Amino acid sequence: MNHSSLFLSLSFSLSLSLSLSFLTFSAPTAHSPTSTRSQQVNTCRLKTVVQWVWYCRNSHSPSASGTLQTQEMDIFAERLLERSAAGDIHEVAHLLQTGVTADVQNEHGWTALMFAAKNGHSQIIDMLLEKGCKSELQTEGGQTAADIAKLWDQSRIAALLGANSANSRISRKTAILSEISNPQIKGENIQNVFLQRTTDKRKDVLWLDIMFKDDFTKFILFSDMQVFVSIKNGTKKNEKSHHQLVTASYKDIDFYLAIKPLTVFLGVQLVNQKDDRHPKERAWFAVDASAMDKEKLQSILPRGHFISPFPAFLHLNTLEKCIFSAACSLMAWHRQHHFCPSCGSNTAPEDAGSKRTCKNVQCTSRSGLFNTNYPRVDPSVIMLVLNSSQTHCLLARKKNFPSDMWFCLSGYLEPGETIEETCQREVAEQVHLEVTSTNYHSSLPWPYPTALLIGCIVQAVTQDLKVNKEELKDAQWFSWSDMGLMSSIQHPANYKLPPDQTLSYRLIEWWMHSHQSTTDNKNHIC
Ligand SMILES: [Zn+2]
Repeated sequence: MNHSSLFLSLSFSLSLSLSLSFLTFSAPTAHSPTSTRSQQVNTCRLKTVVQWVWYCRNSHSPSASGTLQTQEMDIFAERLLERSAAGDIHEVAHLLQTGVTADVQNEHGWTALMFAAKNGHSQIIDMLLEKGCKSELQTEGGQTAADIAKLWDQSRIAALLGANSANSRISRKTAILSEISNPQIKGENIQNVFLQRTTDKRKDVLWLDIMFKDDFTKFILFSDMQVFVSIKNGTKKNEKSHHQLVTASYKDIDFYLAIKPLTVFLGVQLVNQKDDRHPKERAWFAVDASAMDKEKLQSILPRGHFISPFPAFLHLNTLEKCIFSAACSLMAWHRQHHFCPSCGSNTAPEDAGSKRTCKNVQCTSRSGLFNTNYPRVDPSVIMLVLNSSQTHCLLARKKNFPSDMWFCLSGYLEPGETIEETCQREVAEQVHLEVTSTNYHSSLPWPYPTALLIGCIVQAVTQDLKVNKEELKDAQWFSWSDMGLMSSIQHPANYKLPPDQTLSYRLIEWWMHSHQSTTDNKNHIC
């Protein structure tokens, strides 16, 4: 089993219904069903294609069939999103002539402009803008087309769209997303050195109550799995902008905490005090603020907005990223486990939200090793495959990702597998290569919702690729010089590396540096 959807954790618009499958976190497709947006989009892709072919064959011009009916418009609207994503400029032009609304949005709020921006189709973007497409429209997660372009390193397009979305709330507040990342974070392992879990305090009701009401304590707020953050602009020249958690104190939200919403204790941060040798303990809690009066919250904490955890997570500082990883995963787990997986009875949080217990006293989950009461972590491997002489690395293009962006192979561990076995199986399944020598590099908690990415360097003993087209768009070997061109955005085919906050990028960067070091040593010896 290969969950190629692993990379979909990079999705902008997480499906926050958070069903039991990871696959709910897939990126929105151009043909997603629509039920709530201004224009309904037909959900049947086959029907769409058949009717579109029929339309093309039976009408020499868009007006040949007279006024289009609502159903036809729905079909064309869906087709517009799909062909914009695919870069089919001729069909997009034809569709726009039918009178279809250029700004149609799918159920996640994605427009044709956003799909074209993600995939770097500049001619289609020009065409859509000429047709009056609104670049300030936002996805359900609050991203504009410019934001999406920036996240996927489509910098030229981001600049173009940024200039066209001067009124966009998000665009105005963000500088260039691809440049937001704090240089201190880049390439750094996310190690939760800032947060002590203090597991022994989870049952200490008295201590928890004291810390809960302490003015020094901070609460992270989630509403329907959107997180409360501000977007802070740099005020000085060259100063980076970044997202920032907007936390609440007990006094800020005591009116809401009184109704006892889901609250999870995350741990303790030791904060150094001025004029004091001893650091002070700050407790961190996460709160489900879905039922909170948002207008009242806004009046208390006006800087904050609830937005999608992605990409907010990528642009937090290291401390906040550590705490947020734990908070987001735990809150997502609680939302998914209101009912016992063993008997179907109601469950309730216990031990400060670190577990849930089945209310059925006869339930097998209450004893033994069934272990359904505790939050899950889903390990997956990200693999940089090197050839036998280590002169080339293997990268792949993934479905639903920008067509010019190349990633490392990846996949979830199956039950009973070792990390080494997963690497061997996934590489064989995806590109039919045989690999050996798995070496651990680093790991990255990836709270979408509960993944732990395990970065590995593996070495191939065979070289001929046979790409599994059900898994990947493409895969190929790249030399170190190819990597240099991609890194400097000078590759002749316009190929690009993944975003620098990803583990894929970190593995590639390591290989480039290690290769450079080897070359320098050889030159030195010569
Ligand atoms: Zn049960």
